[in-house]
Amino acid sequence: TTPNSHNFIAKIVQDDLASGKVQSVVTRFPPEPNGYLHVGHAKSICLNFGLAEQFNGQCNLRFDDTNPEKESQEFIDAIKDDITWLGFHWAGDVHYASDYFDQLHQWALHLVAEGKAYVCDLSPEQAREYRGTLTEAGKNSPFRERTAEENLALFEKMRAGEFDEGACVLRAKIDMASPNMNLRDPIIYRIRKVHHHQTGDKWCIYPTYDFTHGQSDAIEGITHSVCTLEFEDHKPLYDWFIANLPVPAQPRQYEFGRLNLDYTVTSKRKLKALVDEQVVAGWNDPRMPTVAGMRRRGFTPRSVRNFCDMIGVTRSDGMVDVAMLEHALRDDLNKHAPRAMCVIRPLKVEIENLATDHLEMLSAEYHHELDLGSREMPFTREIYIDQDDFKEEYSKKFKKKFTPGKRIRLRHSYVIEATSYEKDDAGNVVLVRAKLIEGTLGENPADGDNPKGVVHWVSASHSVQAELRLYERLFNHPTPDKVDGDFMQFVNRDSLTVTTGWVEPALANVGAESNFQFEREGYFVADRYDHSADKPVFNLTIGLREDKSL
Ligand code: ATP
Ligand code: MG
Ligand code: MG
Repeated sequence: TTPNSHNFIAKIVQDDLASGKVQSVVTRFPPEPNGYLHVGHAKSICLNFGLAEQFNGQCNLRFDDTNPEKESQEFIDAIKDDITWLGFHWAGDVHYASDYFDQLHQWALHLVAEGKAYVCDLSPEQAREYRGTLTEAGKNSPFRERTAEENLALFEKMRAGEFDEGACVLRAKIDMASPNMNLRDPIIYRIRKVHHHQTGDKWCIYPTYDFTHGQSDAIEGITHSVCTLEFEDHKPLYDWFIANLPVPAQPRQYEFGRLNLDYTVTSKRKLKALVDEQVVAGWNDPRMPTVAGMRRRGFTPRSVRNFCDMIGVTRSDGMVDVAMLEHALRDDLNKHAPRAMCVIRPLKVEIENLATDHLEMLSAEYHHELDLGSREMPFTREIYIDQDDFKEEYSKKFKKKFTPGKRIRLRHSYVIEATSYEKDDAGNVVLVRAKLIEGTLGENPADGDNPKGVVHWVSASHSVQAELRLYERLFNHPTPDKVDGDFMQFVNRDSLTVTTGWVEPALANVGAESNFQFEREGYFVADRYDHSADKPVFNLTIGLREDKSL
């Protein structure tokens, strides 16, 4: 069991199973297909699918598709992909709230016939005025006392397309004086003359979220309908529909706190703005807090699930430190990612006591603890090391100590000793000459003059140039959408740097989405879309240490 399996909702489910209130648990994840899923949705997915796993129940995937103008098949496909990638399996076929439009229409007719719903012709502005405020009761609509016959006829005309959009709505007749605004005769159907991605042009009236959600839960036999806290005020309405309609089951709603992460935004509307205004390259840009973006950045499904476990499930909307997400990511990659070598600021080293055509294949394990296999690394007379790993002058501060007359170990290879170096006109060291110390493959030098440092390197002639995409945080403010003004003003416009790295030849041939620790540089992933053997592309996932954050 994980921390998540002890959350307060799990406790409720457990008690309901123990008391026989429910025979088995059925949950659902109900995204609206109007954007890509973000890290907040991942929390909801882990909770809903996690409950089903924990209690041997089932979790449905149901698209909450009651706003056709904002929805699309692209979003449906992306959401299915994301859930699958996270490692969860929905029960049976995918469900759509639109599968129930006929039934929901029947239930609307039922309310009308019972005198519990009416067609209202107030304009949106008038309706707002009639609605009242938190401190002031609303007023009854002048259309509230229409007879059932009149309402049935009008609702039928709405359905038949005889009214313009906005001309009228169907409202539940509940209580205009209720302290809960959601019970002040909420709209249950509105006219929208738009094509629907699932139902085509069959409907020109669409049910509202409130009229759809609980009844869909009832149809699917959902036992625990888990949603975020902003729906707490909707629960009395949820229950009212369940109580006033001949639904086949009595689902119940439970609320938990939304995930908010600092240094980012978790709202589809805002994420969509970033895409539409081309601040990022798309919903799956590696800087996006979308599941697809995190995937492309190099998050593993396990790192996302571990993060969701770490933050737990509570009844308050807290702000989570992005450092926790980074910790979950780094911890997972540290444990599981193969190690490999990439030189980003190359300095050529010529090993003078090797023949010009020297080519030795050194076998190197991908991981020091796990059995992740090994690869062959070509070792040649000319190699690259990082510019920072050589200094002209010996100094105490310079830990690697690779200076003329001093030695370093090349990772997975031999010890070399610097003999001389060359500078360009600007005074930069451009070439180091060195000698190989014989007998030092996996052994210390026989003369006892052991190197102080180990450095990463690649063959100059046999390495491969790769495009490296180095990412930083997308926002330079901890709470970009919680301050006055437009959150866009806090976008970090320099959050992507494209550079070149020289990688071991084995890295050109790895599959897209392979994660690596490039030793001493950071965690990188072969780009999901752009990486190929001919043109390797690696994205910086995260730096090696805490001070090198996302
Ligand atoms: P947004 O406000 O970003 O548009 P939403 O709530 O409208 O999100 P839906 O597609 O309706 O998005 O959400 C599907 C499920 O995911 C809902 O049950 C919702 O409560 C949950 N969810 C959405 N955002 C978060 C979040 N930040 N933290 C936890 N759960 C979330
Ligand atoms: Mg929603
Ligand atoms: Mg929304």
